[in-house]
Amino acid sequence: MRVLVVEDEPDLCAALRRGLRREGYAVDAVEDGPSAVARARIVAYDLVVLDLTLPGLDGIEVCRQVRVGDEPPLVLMLTARDGIEDRVAGLDAGADDYLAKPFDFRELTARLRALARRETPGRPEVLRFGDLSLDPATRAVSAGGQDVRLTAKEWAVLEYLMRRAGDVVSPEELLEHVWDDQVDPFTNTVRVQVGTLRRKIGTERIQTVVGAGYRLVDPAAEHLSGSV
Ligand code: CA
Repeated sequence: MRVLVVEDEPDLCAALRRGLRREGYAVDAVEDGPSAVARARIVAYDLVVLDLTLPGLDGIEVCRQVRVGDEPPLVLMLTARDGIEDRVAGLDAGADDYLAKPFDFRELTARLRALARRETPGRPEVLRFGDLSLDPATRAVSAGGQDVRLTAKEWAVLEYLMRRAGDVVSPEELLEHVWDDQVDPFTNTVRVQVGTLRRKIGTERIQTVVGAGYRLVDPAAEHLSGSV
């Protein structure tokens, strides 16, 4: 999942960026409103963590301007105040949730997971596909009943493929949602990470669709449909 952090306190901004990266998110960060709007025009973010009081444009106006298009990002608004007026104004502007500062980082990540669940049909807490399961809260992954240990990036690739299970996902889409703006767009990092992920969960689970991308498949179901 790709997150845009918009926070004008440099220390908090850096801490959020670091902490969310550790959790496996691809994170870009900006420190003022106009930069946030500009970034959201060029990148299809999944989530925006948005401070309410910002230089240039405040969080309410930024929220209005980023919540446009077919698949607008989910917005979690941060505020120093816990006032009811701020909460109402934020929600009216299209924010999906609200967190008052100071907050515990664990609460922030729990809220982000809850927002991501809203976007997944049926809102399962644990993502499952065939005998693959992935728990966004504990980060546990199992394949065929065996626990699998993944790096943060492999985990993020698998999470994205599971949220889009059955669809062909292009390398460009993976780059946009799983990597941040520090990645070289011409790198072969997607191919490399998909390769190591395949070796860990079973090569037959990720199909390469030549010229299009990757598709998560359930080997048991494929076998069944092939035999009918
Ligand atoms: Ca602020």
